[in-house]
Amino acid sequence: MTAAHGSRPNFLAADPALYVLARPSLDAAELSAFLQAEASQWRRSAGATPAEDLIELAGRICYMSFGPLQSPRGNAEYIRRLIEQEHESVLEHASWTFLLTGVSRAFSHQMVRHRVGFSFSQLSQQYHDEAGTEFVMPQEIKASAEARRLWLQLMEQLRDGYESISRELSRNGARGKESLRAVRSAARSVLPNATQTKLVFSANGRALRHFLATRGAIVGDLEMRKVSALILTRLKSEAPALVSDFELLTPEDGQPLVKQTSLPPPA
Ligand SMILES: Cc1cc2nc3c(=O)[nH]c(=O)nc-3n(C[C@H](O)[C@H](O)[C@H](O)COP(=O)(O)OP(=O)(O)OC[C@H]3O[C@@H](n4cnc5c(N)ncnc54)[C@H](O)[C@@H]3O)c2cc1C
Repeated sequence: MTAAHGSRPNFLAADPALYVLARPSLDAAELSAFLQAEASQWRRSAGATPAEDLIELAGRICYMSFGPLQSPRGNAEYIRRLIEQEHESVLEHASWTFLLTGVSRAFSHQMVRHRVGFSFSQLSQQYHDEAGTEFVMPQEIKASAEARRLWLQLMEQLRDGYESISRELSRNGARGKESLRAVRSAARSVLPNATQTKLVFSANGRALRHFLATRGAIVGDLEMRKVSALILTRLKSEAPALVSDFELLTPEDGQPLVKQTSLPPPA
């Protein structure tokens, strides 16, 4: 790293981080009012999370399998069977809102391709001044001293270029929201795929399963693998039964990989 980089402690983005901003919760009073109206009862499994309870409840409504119609099957087994029978629309009732930081624009471009069951809000490069932006260094580049040197040099040039172009286009006084937007829109054209971004995304259980199955084990996509691992780790405590057929592995390359395996055997 050159002296110039050394004077920029924020030049490199921190590792990806995933925060759970919102999660499912069951309204106990509403649930009890419903069961009372139906003169019925629901035996809930001890230890099921609110997300798991919500999925089970939605499934039970389909068959009104409460009271004497409720089988001895516990929550995890109930959800396992929903997945096995591909009755997966029920999984859509549980959804989470996540904040993801420390990922590149290259990554986010891939992520926002997931259209179904996902909602996104992303840091704007038109409204936000990217002059002090950070960059996400790919794992492969971290591993090579020469590639790392070249990469850092280029990132610095590009960020300097962004700043110079912004200054030049603002010379005649870019004022007002739309003028600033125009300047930043033009200047951002030199920012690379490695530019760090932040995303809030909401997604339901079914969509998250699809995402992990499609994206989690692409061997050559290390950034996607890292994010998939973060999502799976959170879901393993938010709703373990929802992801009982996904495993977090660390193959020979030392990077996390999310693999869909088979469902656990029936309880
Ligand atoms: C290994 C890999 C390589 C890729 N390479 C490229 C590439 O080179 N270029 C590129 O542009 N993209 C590429 N993609 C992106 C890919 O094509 C999808 O856009 C992305 O993975 C989102 O998946 P999805 O459409 O299944 O998800 P979602 O959009 O969330 O859709 C979920 C599911 O809903 C159903 N669905 C959604 N929309 C429709 C529809 N209109 N009609 C019918 N069914 C629908 C499908 O069953 C789909 O699987 C690649 C993805 C992977 C995993």
